[in-house]
Parts: sequence; structure tokens; C-alpha cells
Amino acid sequence: MSEPRKFLLDDSEMPTHWYNIVADLPTPPPPPLHPGTHQPVGPDDLAPLFPPELIAQEVSTERYIEIPEAVREVYAQYRPSPLFRAHNLERKLGTPARIYYKYEGVSPAGSHKVNTSIPQAYYNKINGINRLTTETGAGQWGTALSYACSLFDMTCEVWQVGASYDSKPQRRTLIEVFGGTVHRSPSRMTESGKAFEEGHPGSLGIAISEAVELAAQDPQAKYALGSVLNHVLLHQTISGEETLKQLAKAGESGADLVVGCAGGGSNFAGLAFPFLREKLAGNQNPRILAVEPTSCPTLTRGEYRYDFGDTAGLTPLMKMYTLGHDFVPSTIHAGGLRYHGMAPLVSHAVHEGLIEATALHQTECFEAAVEFARTEGIVPAPESSHALAQARREALEAKESGEEKVIVILLSGHGLLELGAYDSFLSGHLEDDPLSEDALATALAGVPQID
Ligand SMILES: *Cc1c(COP(=O)(O)O)cnc(C)c1O
Repeated sequence: MSEPRKFLLDDSEMPTHWYNIVADLPTPPPPPLHPGTHQPVGPDDLAPLFPPELIAQEVSTERYIEIPEAVREVYAQYRPSPLFRAHNLERKLGTPARIYYKYEGVSPAGSHKVNTSIPQAYYNKINGINRLTTETGAGQWGTALSYACSLFDMTCEVWQVGASYDSKPQRRTLIEVFGGTVHRSPSRMTESGKAFEEGHPGSLGIAISEAVELAAQDPQAKYALGSVLNHVLLHQTISGEETLKQLAKAGESGADLVVGCAGGGSNFAGLAFPFLREKLAGNQNPRILAVEPTSCPTLTRGEYRYDFGDTAGLTPLMKMYTLGHDFVPSTIHAGGLRYHGMAPLVSHAVHEGLIEATALHQTECFEAAVEFARTEGIVPAPESSHALAQARREALEAKESGEEKVIVILLSGHGLLELGAYDSFLSGHLEDDPLSEDALATALAGVPQID
């Protein structure tokens, strides 16, 4: 019991500002373009969907943006979140690496997504909006937004990707417990949904089209996105800011490796961007690594192009790594990692060589997840297991080389609602389904020719 395991911050040490990486990027990221004119979108184009404060954050070049008092009060329910040293896992692996994980599964919805659902609901509420629409894949974002809406006395309507609606009924129940209403996507309620036959497994891209379509029609409603956009990544930086403070408390001068899983890029960016700031300032020199599934390998096999964020082409065109907006990934268990695109800011940072990306098979991820559960006592979300599996590889490499490196992982959520996936793994039914060259070429053929 000599070595401390938990690194906690007092309530008074909770960061008061979010960090905006745009202020420190060596080159500015390419702007989003209007889907019709292909000109850069202005704040007016976004006004039907988002309140002014979020639009201002979306285009901001300010380095720090203050977290409103009312948002900090709600954050205090579960923040600052703990940073743990994975002593048991280190011993099991026999590695000289020091492994730390920042645990976001302590939030009400069990993942990092509440970090952005709370401010998004808040900014809509103070602008008189009482109805939010959104999409959800595995259900995490729908849960997080429903909870935030109930806190601010708003209604929340969620289009859930058909495949996960069918296979994860408890996810729908959880959203309903938190006060949200769930529709199976593709639904019959929107033109975007009616373009597909009933029973279609759906995709995040289709569900986004449906939620955007309804919000655009109703002046009393706005839309909320759980990842990808600049303001979402901004809100997530609270986890990285806390981690920097906690790592200092643990007596570390910095990290050698910072690793997170990447679906739309938000939890990864939340940890990575404050570390990237320190790296660009020359204060520490970590490798910063995003991990994705081989069945949805956006950063590692996609193209850096302007593409739509949704299937129907209703969103602005964003310059990002993409597999093509028509891409429907195989039904791997990490539902939150099944998005065809990647946050423009994460894409830009990868393209500029500031951060790296790699892809792993899901079976290796589940092996790492089960080992983590058996040593650290937390059942990780299947998404988070991608970060764990990569950290495991690096820790085993350190064992070979004898290098005492410091590894920092973002554990984006717990997997207690994903026991079906663990059951498939433990009973030997889990399969890897890497994206084929043919399927990749077909999906990329649908990307508009803009650059
Ligand atoms: C949604 C989700 C992800 C993926 O989304 P990002 O925007 O890439 O963070 C990862 N982990 C968990 C637990 C999630 O719920």
C-alpha cells in the first residue's frame, strides 16, 4: 500500500476554462463549406441548428473559454474525475511503464459525453429553446443529452441507429429513464429516413440527417451533436486539463504516450489537445495517438477530403478524414466508433503530423478489456478498450526495452451496459471484420469532388 493509486482534485481545483486548440495550431484548419455554394459557412448558416454561444465557440480562435457557473455546478456532480495509476495491470504485464488512466465512467451517463451535453443543453436553454433533437449510436450520447435536458427542463428526441435499437433495448430504456424519447432510425418521420426501407440497420449518418431535418423545420427546436464539431471537442478538454494537474500531483513531469479511442474524435481530443498545447510549447514531448477499429478505419485508411457529416448531405462539408458519407460499417460492438468521418480538428492535427493514429481488431481490444477488468476492477466500454489495447502493446514493448515510460489513457466510459458484447467475446463468438479494399473504394466513390 505504499504507492498511491488515486490522484484526485478538490472541487476548487476543477478547471474554470475549456481549452481551444485552434489558438495554438501552427496552421489554421480549413473552414467548413456550405453544401450548396461550397463557400465557407458563416454563423448565419448555422443559426437554425445551434444557439449563438455554441456557434461562437465553433468558430472561435480564443485560447481559453470560460465555463459558465451554471455548467460548473452540474459538472461538480461528478467532476473532477479521478486519475488512477494502474498498479495491478502494470504488475500483471510485468512492465516498467507507469500506466495512468483518466476515468470518465464516473459521470451520470457512464461516459465522457455528459461533459458536452450539459453545456449544450444550458446554452440552448438560456436562448429559450425547449426541445433538442439528436442521434445516438450505442446510446451513450442519447443518454447523456437526455439527462442534461431533464436537468434544464427541456425535451429530448433521439434517433437511435436501427442496429443498436434492435440489439440494445436497455439502451433505449436508459434514455427513457432520463426523460428522452427514442425513435428507431431510419424512421418514417423524416424524408431522410423514408429514403431507406423499413428495418434498415441504419447508421449514424442517417440518424444525424433525421435529427437535423426535424430541428431545421421547428423554430422552437435545435439540434445537438455529441462529437466531431469544434465546440464539442472544446467542452471535452476539461478532462485533459484535469489530467495535466493530476499527473503533476503524481510527481510526473509529463507523459511519453497519450492514447485515446477515436470515433468522432471528442474524448480523444479532450485528453490530447491540452497535451498537444504543452508539446507545442516545448514543455513535454508525448507521442499522441488515436486508436480506431479496423472495421471503421477513418484516420488510417480514409482520405483527407471535404465530405458531409451525414448521409443525406444536409450538414456543411467538413475537411476531414472520411470513409465516405454513405459508408455503413459492420456491426462491431464499439458502436461509438462506427462513424464514417472524424472531427476536422483531429483530422487536421493528424494530417499536419502533430498526432498519430492506428487501428486495432476488436478481439485484441476485448482481450485487453477483460485483462483490465480482472486487474483494475472496471469493465471498460468496448470503445475505450481500443485505447487500453494500444496501451497494453506499448507497455509490453517497454518491458522488452526496459524503458520506464509514462502512459496516459483516457478511459472514456464503463461497459456495464455492453455485457452482451463481453458475452460474445467470452463464448468465442466475437469476430474481426476489417474493412475490405472493395468496400472502401465503393464508399469513397460517394465523396463529393471538391478538392
Ligand atoms: C461515444 C463514445 C466514444 C466515441 O466518441 P468520440 O467522440 O470519438 O469520443 C468513445 N467512448 C465512449 C464510451 C463513448 O460513449
